[in-house]
Amino acid sequence: MKITMTHGSGGQATSELIASVFANAFQNDVLNRMEDSAVVPGSGTIAVTTDSFVVTPLQFPGGDIGRLCVCGTVNDLLMRGAVPQYLTCGFILQEGLDTELLQELVASMAATARESGVAIVAGDTKVVEGNGGLFVNTAGVGFVPAGVDISGENCRPGDVVLVSGTLGDHHAAILSSRLGIENTIQSDCAPLGGMVKALMEGGIHLHTLRDVTRGGLATVLKELASSSGVSIRLEEEKLPVTPQVGDLCGLLGLDPLYMGNEGKLVAILPAEEADKALELVRSAPYGKHAAIIGTVNADHPGSLTMLTPIGGLRRLEVLQDEGLPRIC
Ligand code: MG
Repeated sequence: MKITMTHGSGGQATSELIASVFANAFQNDVLNRMEDSAVVPGSGTIAVTTDSFVVTPLQFPGGDIGRLCVCGTVNDLLMRGAVPQYLTCGFILQEGLDTELLQELVASMAATARESGVAIVAGDTKVVEGNGGLFVNTAGVGFVPAGVDISGENCRPGDVVLVSGTLGDHHAAILSSRLGIENTIQSDCAPLGGMVKALMEGGIHLHTLRDVTRGGLATVLKELASSSGVSIRLEEEKLPVTPQVGDLCGLLGLDPLYMGNEGKLVAILPAEEADKALELVRSAPYGKHAAIIGTVNADHPGSLTMLTPIGGLRRLEVLQDEGLPRIC
């Protein structure tokens, strides 16, 4: 069956679509009540975020828009030290979308929500003219435990930079899909709750966490150097990149430093805790290839530089051109 404008009418067809596709996949005590808003328990310090997902293709090696829209929102909550609890989702369906495909994407979304420990407690569906596409907006709420202060302003001289795995995988997977290049590259799209929990329960004094998404590692670290008033020095030889992504970059003249991931984070933490943090992340889900890649320093506040293998120093800025559109 294909989505038609009738599915967005608010009448019988809308109710049937919601019942058969969304309510079925996402069911929980709050959503099942089908009230005008979700009323949920909560207290203390709350983290809130929202993100829209317009990726094409809707399914790609290693993931799909359903997994992506949960990971993106959950990871943004985690980056402030919050424990993600609730998600809302707004679907904008284009006329002509295949309902079997929609069902697969929604099932993937439900599975990723379960993996992340969040409940989808409210949702909305609209139908617009178009040619079978789909957009999703998700908002997320999480609770920040007392005493936790993880922020982009907290990088300190003497800290190290840990990255949780290989760079550019999501970007390279989408690009390969889009260009019809055959390879084995998979998106790294993943929820990072296990890794953050391991670090926090392991007693690591996390100063800053940031997920490495659009703009890539260099953009993220340059922004952190500015907001914390410090400089960051990377070592090129320590950057983890898979041979497959490295080859694709060589072929297309791309730089993995500016390519987006959807399941990687950088953690800025005291140098004396580096070994322990590395061990914790490497033992956590999706953290096997974590590495310590650089240091935080007091000189030249706001600058990001990288030591090259031949001993040169490369200055890095934020991503300048617009990069690849619609990777998330
Ligand atoms: Mg983020």
